[in-house]
Amino acid sequence: MHRLVLFDIDCTLIDAHGAGGRAIFRAIADTYGVRGELDGYSFHGRTDPAIIVELATRWGTPEAVARDRLATCLARYVEVLRDEITPDEVELLPGVGELVTALACDRRVVLGVLTGNIDDGLALKLAPTGLLPHFKVHASGSDSALRPELPAIAVERAQRLTGYGYSGKEVVVIGDTPADILCGAGLAVRAIAVATGRHTLAELAPYGPDYLFADLGDWRAVVEAILA
Ligand SMILES: [Mg+2]
Repeated sequence: MHRLVLFDIDCTLIDAHGAGGRAIFRAIADTYGVRGELDGYSFHGRTDPAIIVELATRWGTPEAVARDRLATCLARYVEVLRDEITPDEVELLPGVGELVTALACDRRVVLGVLTGNIDDGLALKLAPTGLLPHFKVHASGSDSALRPELPAIAVERAQRLTGYGYSGKEVVVIGDTPADILCGAGLAVRAIAVATGRHTLAELAPYGPDYLFADLGDWRAVVEAILA
């Protein structure tokens, strides 16, 4: 049996109490000189590069300029995030420590992250949890602004690492948003949704995840869903 288990970060593994959002606001203001309100815009399920271009454009930056200066803004974001994110602000969500540790000990399982965070951001967010070394494969906002492109990138990296070609339900994507559930549909992956973010169980269910949990607190049940 082989499993490649790919976790979303924000509101799936951790709650960073808005540190990422605050850093993005400051980076956009510093890079493009624009500020604004979210007006219903949600960061959830989106990638950092997409969020920056969309918000900067919404707040008055011409889209071409937003794209041209994206690398500068992302670099600024990492600087600001380093200030914003304090270890006591990164809260591990229920069951996550036990779940990740149990899976990391299972030789049938390779762990990875599949996240809209860019690489430096994901490292800053996960370092305080002590779990970062368990994640052997990263597919992130540094690879693509489009989340549906990330599962195939993770699968390819896992194959390079292990020599095994993971496919279909051997690939497990765990996340808290409809975007997490849907991103692996093209590969027919196993989607596990968890309602520890902005979306309730009732809001996630219509997207048809293979499994749906209120939180990961009953981590043994999650392990069963992964290995089933
Ligand atoms: Mg999330």
